[in-house]
Amino acid sequence: MNSFMKNITQKDIDFMQVALDEAKLAASEDEVPIGACVVFEGRVIARAHNRRESDKSPWAHAEFLAMQQAAEILDRWRLSGCSVYVTLEPCLMCAGLMINSRIDRCVYGSSDPKGGALGTLYNVHADERLNHEFEAVGGVLEDECSKLLKDFFIRRRKERKQSKEEGTYEKPAHIDIDDLDCLRSQINIIDKQMFSLLQQRFDVAALIARYKESHGMDIFDPQRENDKCLWAESLADDDEKDLYGRIMSELMEVSREYEKRINDKQ
Ligand code: ZN
Repeated sequence: MNSFMKNITQKDIDFMQVALDEAKLAASEDEVPIGACVVFEGRVIARAHNRRESDKSPWAHAEFLAMQQAAEILDRWRLSGCSVYVTLEPCLMCAGLMINSRIDRCVYGSSDPKGGALGTLYNVHADERLNHEFEAVGGVLEDECSKLLKDFFIRRRKERKQSKEEGTYEKPAHIDIDDLDCLRSQINIIDKQMFSLLQQRFDVAALIARYKESHGMDIFDPQRENDKCLWAESLADDDEKDLYGRIMSELMEVSREYEKRINDKQ
């Protein structure tokens, strides 16, 4: 048994399973399969997977994104009371975020000999010079976590070799994900962000309307509305063009409705 294993409970294993499900999602998106979740008061409040390639972002590590979400959901920067579960030992950046967000605990799956900052290369969680310390536990579902990574890199090497030989590249078959809960929780998080963005959009649209009003301009500008729909269509793949245009036009409709209600209230 790994020497880290002393403080493990069944709950830790269950939550690591959630992080593993996220890691599988990453693999299905052709990202290095690392997953994470944040637990607060015994419940998973945020979950994410590595999105470095999709987001073209150096900080889109699974646990980084999960902590960001958790802060949004708790509506505070301080993540005290939270535990972070992640399939691979966090790097210096993520361990730094754990210090800065004051988490209680981090549980990880496999160690990272090339970057691990919670026990392998560094002991960021237990450095008395820093202004926060937290518990770090490694080795939970270690075999599953590292197998996922190994399989991914073996598959990728094989594919690269093959595409070099044939001069072609075929996208790998997606991994089946049976976990409906996992996908639902993703939808919930996206919806939450979407509604928050919608609110911001309506507020700005209302400001524009007020500006136009005070400058004696027509609030409704059919040419511009048409341009907006065309712009939305240009964002879509061919078979979705119509749909995007319709969504844009309905969005503007709802925006006007919102603005009318605000004006009626005043
Ligand atoms: Zn990291």
